Formats: sequence, C-alpha cells, structure tokens
Amino acid sequence: MSPVRRCSRTACGRPAVATLTYVYADSTAVLGPLATYAEPHCYDLCSEHSERLTAPRGWEVVRLAVDTGPVRPSGDDLEALANAVREAARPQERTRRGGRDIDPLEVARRGHLRVLRSPE
Ligand SMILES: [Zn+2]
Repeated sequence: MSPVRRCSRTACGRPAVATLTYVYADSTAVLGPLATYAEPHCYDLCSEHSERLTAPRGWEVVRLAVDTGPVRPSGDDLEALANAVREAARPQERTRRGGRDIDPLEVARRGHLRVLRSPE
C-alpha cells in the first residue's frame, strides 16, 4: 500500500487530489487527475491549491477533469484521514459550537421569560 500523497506546496500538508505537469516545450501547465506515480516536473496539489493555481507569465494552463472527491478509494482508513484533515481545517466552527448549550435564538433571559430574536 502506497503512502498518502501530499500537496507539494510549502507548508501545505493536505492530501493531493491533482497533479500539475509542466510541459516546458509548449509553455503549458497541465492540471489533471493525480498521477499514478511521481515524475520529474510533476507536482501534486491539494484541491485548494489546484483551484488557486495560476500559471507563470506567458504560460497556458490546461485543466483536465479532476475528481476532487476521494481519488483512490483504497479503504476506510484513507477516507477517515481525509475527513480528519477537513475537520482540522475548520477550527473556528468547532470552537464556536463546542461544549456550550445555548439556544442560538436566545438573546437574553429574565426570570422565566426569554427574549428571542426572530429566526432569519
Ligand atoms: Zn495544498
């Protein structure tokens, strides 16, 4: 079993979903599905970096259809890992909801009366 491919961008540890290939002869960068094996001039990218990809000046970017879902379904472990990574990427949402049992509509409480704002 091969290790999980990672995005090749500095400081980015997300799982790779696409492979960027530079075709120097044509000044073309081809963004396509994850390559089966790593080659020179190939860079694995996560979904975020492949979406934000910009070509060097004078270069053309060719985007092939990329499946941004689980690319190589090789078991529940990989999927669980991907979910964990996605979860870790949203710390604000988790802390905001974490632990406290508060009615989101309740803005104040006076005795047995609660002041609610209307649902949006
Ligand atoms: Zn990345």
